[in-house]
Amino acid sequence: MTIKTTPVKLLWLLLLLFCFSSCRTDVSTETTSFTPDQEFDTFKNEFVEELWRLHPDWASSEGYHLYDSELVIPDAAYRAKVMAAYQQNLEKLQTFDPEKLTANNRTDLKMIENFLKSGMWYNNTFKSYEWNPAEYNIGGSVAGILNGRYDVLEARLRSISTKIANAENYYQTARQIIKQPTKEHTELAIMQNKGSLSVFGQPMLDSIQKSGLKQPEKELLKKRIETAKASINQYVQYLEQDVLKQKKAGELRSFRIGKELYSTKFKYDLVSRYSADEIFQKAKQRKEELHQNMAKLSRELWPKYFPEKAMPADSLKLISSLIGIISEKHVHRDSFMLAVEQQIPELVKFVDDKKLLTQDPEKPLVVRKTPEYMRGVAGASISAPGPYDKKADTYYNVTPLDQYTPEQAESYLREYNFYTLQILNIHEAIPGHYTQLVYSNRSPSIIKAILGSGAMVEGWAVYTERMMLEQGYGNNSPELWLMYYKWHLRVVLNTVLDYSIHVLGMTEQEAMDLLQKQGFQEKTEAAGKWRRATLSQVQLCSYFTGYTEIYDLREELKEKQGKKFDLKNFHEEFLSYGSAPVKFIRQMMLD
Ligand code: ZN
Ligand code: ZN
Repeated sequence: MTIKTTPVKLLWLLLLLFCFSSCRTDVSTETTSFTPDQEFDTFKNEFVEELWRLHPDWASSEGYHLYDSELVIPDAAYRAKVMAAYQQNLEKLQTFDPEKLTANNRTDLKMIENFLKSGMWYNNTFKSYEWNPAEYNIGGSVAGILNGRYDVLEARLRSISTKIANAENYYQTARQIIKQPTKEHTELAIMQNKGSLSVFGQPMLDSIQKSGLKQPEKELLKKRIETAKASINQYVQYLEQDVLKQKKAGELRSFRIGKELYSTKFKYDLVSRYSADEIFQKAKQRKEELHQNMAKLSRELWPKYFPEKAMPADSLKLISSLIGIISEKHVHRDSFMLAVEQQIPELVKFVDDKKLLTQDPEKPLVVRKTPEYMRGVAGASISAPGPYDKKADTYYNVTPLDQYTPEQAESYLREYNFYTLQILNIHEAIPGHYTQLVYSNRSPSIIKAILGSGAMVEGWAVYTERMMLEQGYGNNSPELWLMYYKWHLRVVLNTVLDYSIHVLGMTEQEAMDLLQKQGFQEKTEAAGKWRRATLSQVQLCSYFTGYTEIYDLREELKEKQGKKFDLKNFHEEFLSYGSAPVKFIRQMMLD
């Protein structure tokens, strides 16, 4: 592959030239004028450049569009090239002394090292490219380019045209690589690739028509679209016929990855000081604690809500009855957006009054309706600008309930009732995801933006839910605590479920029982969770793992510092390291 000169690279060259010509005093030695941090910054920039050359689709999704027109043929030669590059970077990393770097760069170094080692393990041992046919799909990246607003339509269509010219080769290679796939990932691949056909449908043809491409370019692109669609169809047919219909049960792989792969994946994905086994034990213990706390609160609340009725002896039934009746306190479907908007200033004020952390009044959170093209997934989410689009605003997207039937709206409003809506806002906005983002943007790091720890980010949001209630948010209302426990139980059970399914062979029926009876979840939510656990591994543990590490770190520091411990200092220092794994932040904070 040719090495293109990128804007970032060019900037570095200019900086270097400038340095050589004007700011160097000692010309005889080559390296002394660069501090270890400057050298490491140069390495990081080259590393990221190379990462984008190797992974064009990932680059596009991060807002880096130089390689949009490239389609990687996922064959053995490509994988060997990636492995060689990772090995080389790993060797370069060894030349840096972490002790001589700033905390920001030291965590970046550790994160890059983990990324490279993890990538090699995925390639050499985990090998999901052999058993997960859903890894092959050109639809997502093409849709991203088509819907992107970063360049004129013509340029984007030309990228798509060059990219899909190799679609046939791409899908044929995929078929050669797939060996003993799982039934679940094969079904997912069929569904998602069928979905990708719609990317090449009428809206794309309309875009081509109205674009300023020359007629021969238009014709060529349309021809390539036809070939791409045919290749997708053949791939789907291969998965439906050759894989699902003709392979016998024993020829398909189980979606359960087993203890060994699970433990290693846990180590690389979550970078936790705890092992998968330890986190599983902690989750089970936390579940028992929550059940006890919930039973105690429910016994206290029973006479208030059911003055005429006898209390059930079974504590899970008791809790379930109270959750049912308390969930009835919710806003009207038309006031949902308004309720969220009104909450934000209250959360800001509470955080200020209690001195939980310093907030930036220059960066108020903007609540907006979720844009149409983003709907269909979460009811509320934070939209943050990517690493190459820093000037863009940050939004709190809330999906209005207009499209819901009365039954759907009622079910949604019971889920996000008067109490849990407040916890949702703590988690997503203040002092959860949004606040963490404001802090992490203060020590900008491209590495933390692209390799950031999901367990740290989610763990922080989950931690703030408990921290706010402990600080007296909601005036210690027993209803709020009970609903918080139910909410928190979800992330605890995500961990129990994921480990039990992949390592201990839990069945679907056992999983449904766990989530519905012990987690008080609706059937649809529980069924969705089961499916997610069959398609992913470890990710469901990230929330509870990050939360546990943060909470334990706080308690550890409290113990160590005694009277000197200050919650505000703890929060601000913790957040100042950016989205690094909690394990690395802990090492910095204990030093
Ligand atoms: Zn209702
Ligand atoms: Zn979250």
